Amino acid sequence: MSRIYKIAIDGPSGVGKSTLAKGLAKELGFVYVDTGAIYRTVGLYAQYNEIDPHDEEGLSAHFGKIDIELKWEDGAQHVYLCGKDVSEEIRTPKSSMYASAVSALPKVRAFLLDMQRSIASKTSVIMDGRDIGTVILPDADVKIFMSADEVSRAKRRYKELCEKGQTVSFDEVLSDMKQRDFNDSTRSAAPLKPAEDAVMFDNTELDIAQTIEAAKKIITEKIGNEL
Ligand code: C5P
Repeated sequence: MSRIYKIAIDGPSGVGKSTLAKGLAKELGFVYVDTGAIYRTVGLYAQYNEIDPHDEEGLSAHFGKIDIELKWEDGAQHVYLCGKDVSEEIRTPKSSMYASAVSALPKVRAFLLDMQRSIASKTSVIMDGRDIGTVILPDADVKIFMSADEVSRAKRRYKELCEKGQTVSFDEVLSDMKQRDFNDSTRSAAPLKPAEDAVMFDNTELDIAQTIEAAKKIITEKIGNEL
């Protein structure tokens, strides 16, 4: 592989972005970057320090102390907050809601912008999030915007949380997901929306293997067989 490639995958919660991005990254030998984990980590910092996640000034006063590092260990992304691996802790329903709140703050988005761009400037990446194609990597080689119906997405998320041993009800997962999607798509700072040049991809009826195959087809159509 001679040059650096950037693949952006955006879409709402539970649509399978990370499963797809992880699978593709493994096959293509790219680094997978889960940007949601970064917002979740800022949310966790707010949680730990009892900062209201809607308080932009209060939270931004702490930016100098919010030390976030991404590391890839055995092919998986780990996120460190002030030296501590918080990769598991950021996955609780409470952390999801904190992430949703802090990610609406323009100062938080500006604070995290360079970190995301700098990773993509060093190596070929598949980056997933909400604004990768629109804001973070507007020059991405391929932009995929995923969607799937709400109940299927909530079922996937519910299964994932149960497998991690978390005690949650399906109704709670569905209503949290609706709330986050609403917050993400209606906020004024980098709202969840497809880039003009994104390929729309609905995977409601597809399993993981079919999703990966379909995405590979989209990638090949965009950049040919040069990978
Ligand atoms: O992707 P994930 O569900 O882990 O992201 C957690 C939250 O972080 C999302 O609900 C969204 O509010 C926020 N987020 C964002 N922009 C990104 C990635 C995530 O606003 N690029």
